[in-house]
Amino acid sequence: MMQRLMISLTLIALVGLPSLASANDELIAAVKADYDAHLGTLFKHFHANPEHSFVEHKTASRLAAELRSAGFEVTEKVGRTGIVAIMENGPGPLVMMRADMDGLPVKELSGLPYASQATQVNDDGQEFPVMHACGHDVHITSLVGTARRMAAEKGSWSGTLMLIGQPAEEWKISGAQAMHQDDLWKRFGQPDFALAFHVAAAIEAGKIFVAESAAYSGADSVDIIVPGIGAHGASPHRGKDPILIGSQIVVALQQLVSRELDPREPGVVTVGVFRAGNKRNIIGEEAVLELTVRSDSTKTRQTLLEGIERIAVNTGRAAGLPEDRLPRVELRGGVPVTVNDVSLVKRISSRWRAELGDGVFADHERQGMGAEDFGFLTTDPYIPSAYFAIGGTPKERFDEEAAGGKPVPSHHSPLFEISPEPSVRSGVVATVIALKELMPVQ
Ligand SMILES: [Zn+2]
Ligand SMILES: [Zn+2]
Repeated sequence: MMQRLMISLTLIALVGLPSLASANDELIAAVKADYDAHLGTLFKHFHANPEHSFVEHKTASRLAAELRSAGFEVTEKVGRTGIVAIMENGPGPLVMMRADMDGLPVKELSGLPYASQATQVNDDGQEFPVMHACGHDVHITSLVGTARRMAAEKGSWSGTLMLIGQPAEEWKISGAQAMHQDDLWKRFGQPDFALAFHVAAAIEAGKIFVAESAAYSGADSVDIIVPGIGAHGASPHRGKDPILIGSQIVVALQQLVSRELDPREPGVVTVGVFRAGNKRNIIGEEAVLELTVRSDSTKTRQTLLEGIERIAVNTGRAAGLPEDRLPRVELRGGVPVTVNDVSLVKRISSRWRAELGDGVFADHERQGMGAEDFGFLTTDPYIPSAYFAIGGTPKERFDEEAAGGKPVPSHHSPLFEISPEPSVRSGVVATVIALKELMPVQ
């Protein structure tokens, strides 16, 4: 008896007391085994067979089949090519996890054995090469991994899980809106919480990053139409020059971010297109400016949009344009801010910390003011959401780059490359832990 007790104590000393960490080792091992058995092949299939925005037909039907065989009830063609998969598992909240499915019009040059050779006719009828150059193949493979894990561990959570395969995040950034407008919440229920992640080439594989503020900026497409009064280029006093007025508008717009926003508040006003004129000695009738405007809050968005209107109209006025021919500002659509709900992010982060250790968090800052369309799903009505990033590049690659070697390719590059095993594994593990936190056994 004593001897048996001694052996038991020794064993406990050797392997440690049963703890959250060891439960978690089991989760990691299970996901790893699933990667070797199924998810690895599935990732390569998705990577080699990418599809353009809104024509993700084969991707959606394969994803639907995978989720069905994991035990989910799947509806296809929601918001054109989107899919919704539901698993009801007792009382509790409805939690949604979204993965975007589309590739990009990029010819893959990664040299990987499973590189895409595909070209495809896009939604506008034009044929382009297509590549998973943003890692959405990691997202959908992880969604399947999450589905399989959650189905296998139904005893350890309670509630309803909704998995979404979303079209067209990239090119027309309108897939989330298309699904939302297809009565998504009316048909399938409005989630209590919403989650999504993006794999990030700039973050070390195995690490997680989550912002306690905006995960992505809101973006507005704005056009400024500047009327002119045509004249001979040698007689400028007979006309009003739209190129000069447009140029003054471009310069004056720079004061919006530098002088009108709180210096701690991010914002971008970029004039990406300036179109005017067709002959050197003619003062034309019109100039057109096309802008992208980025903001992380409604207040900043309003300051920038109102400022653009004020500057455009009054610069025209100052140039002496008549009141009925002043510059016009037209909003051409956009996406809302992807807001991270602070208390939800804190809740999930502390569960990740408890289960995966402090070291799981990447030393990372948001770069630039990139946009996403996830906000269409969470803004109106407001759904507390957490959008996180999963590292996709092994540490050795960063070391190689730092030593002057091959740079780590960025997203949307033809050389883009994600290390699939650790990315998919971390994607599934992080998601499953978050879901279990939000859907505890009742
Ligand atoms: Zn992208
Ligand atoms: Zn992307």
